[in-house]
Amino acid sequence: MPVFPTGDIIDSHFRTSTLPHIWCPGCSHGIVTRALAQALDNADADKDRTVLVSGIGCSSRATGYLDYYTIHTTHGRALAVATGLKLARPDLRVVVISGDGDTGAIGTSHLVHAARRNIDLTLVCYVNNTYGMTGGQGAPTTQCGDITSTSPFGHLERPLDLCALSQAAGAAFVARATAWHYDLLVRLIAKGIEKKGFAVVEAVSSCPVYAGRLNGQDTPAQMLFAMREQGVSDPGAALGAGQFRIGELWDVEAPEYVETYHRQARGRAGR
Ligand code: SF4
Repeated sequence: MPVFPTGDIIDSHFRTSTLPHIWCPGCSHGIVTRALAQALDNADADKDRTVLVSGIGCSSRATGYLDYYTIHTTHGRALAVATGLKLARPDLRVVVISGDGDTGAIGTSHLVHAARRNIDLTLVCYVNNTYGMTGGQGAPTTQCGDITSTSPFGHLERPLDLCALSQAAGAAFVARATAWHYDLLVRLIAKGIEKKGFAVVEAVSSCPVYAGRLNGQDTPAQMLFAMREQGVSDPGAALGAGQFRIGELWDVEAPEYVETYHRQARGRAGR
């Protein structure tokens, strides 16, 4: 008998033989991964034509659990591998699962160039403001003043806004939600999957073991309640300290790279 909760989405979208997962108790990566599975379901993703590609980090373990064709690549290179895959097989739907340390540091240039090309990929970036897997080091998204294992007196660097960066670099769709705002997160990921072009969905998640414990948030529930207050869905509302916008942040139509490339190649070949 299984010792973990089951249900339609779990049974139909997860490799149940790999569960329970290895994420720490209270980590909200499980919520985000379930939201992704629900979004794939809502978007009618064909399992035979959908590939999930991840990098390295706690969030990237998700490809081990989801019952799709999956590729677990190296640190920071998920978008590069996904780009090659999409160019070789334009018929596939490719979803990239990544963390903020993965995409916002070693993989930043891949993010910028995937956005600049407007390549038809969906990036779901789990953002928990730390490097959880390696011990809670400061990440590119760590807030100023936060305590991390590499900044015991407070983080000095300003955080990178991955949504603003993606929009500025040319992504067609940019959105953000948190693990607390589950229904919104499902809706945004599904829209990103259906969007033609490069779609980025930032999924604000939590690392209670490092980011929480080191910064006075003693329980996973406290971190989720904090997300509820931090995420602001009214685009006209002023942002207070520590708050950020959630919802659809950017949605435009723009020429998509793979389609354009193959059209040009066919033209040159006279087909
Ligand atoms: Fe989650 Fe942090 Fe544990 Fe990684 S180290 S599984 S991010 S709680």
